[in-house]
Amino acid sequence: MCIFCKIVNNEIPANIILENEDFLAFHDINPKAPIHVLAIPKKHIDSFNEVDSKTMKNMTTFMQNVAKELNIDKSGYRVITNVGENGGQEVEHLHFHILGGAKLAWSHLSDADPKGNI
Ligand code: AMP
Repeated sequence: MCIFCKIVNNEIPANIILENEDFLAFHDINPKAPIHVLAIPKKHIDSFNEVDSKTMKNMTTFMQNVAKELNIDKSGYRVITNVGENGGQEVEHLHFHILGGAKLAWSHLSDADPKGNI
């Protein structure tokens, strides 16, 4: 069972922000911004590659509610999902990073050479 499924099953603790029947949002253990929350579907989906449009529709509403709950909906925030090896995905359970609480830099989002040189 993956680490986020263990959080869903209460087998390991998490600092939960918002929860409903299908989705869960909790603080990232290694925050990259003053506010860094992860939103996940409770059912296991490996990544954005596999998610269906109905789940995404409901996930969108859930994430909007998470932003409201965190009081960053007006000040602004960033939503990121990493997919696969090149995307830097470490946990193979679909999750969206919701980052906010400060003006976020954009320039270091990727360290890759835009021309593809290694
Ligand atoms: P990614 O690299 O997109 O797969 O992101 C995985 C994220 O999960 C990282 O930001 C980790 O800090 C976070 N993470 C890993 N384990 C836990 C945990 N037990 N509780 C909360 N966040 C976690």
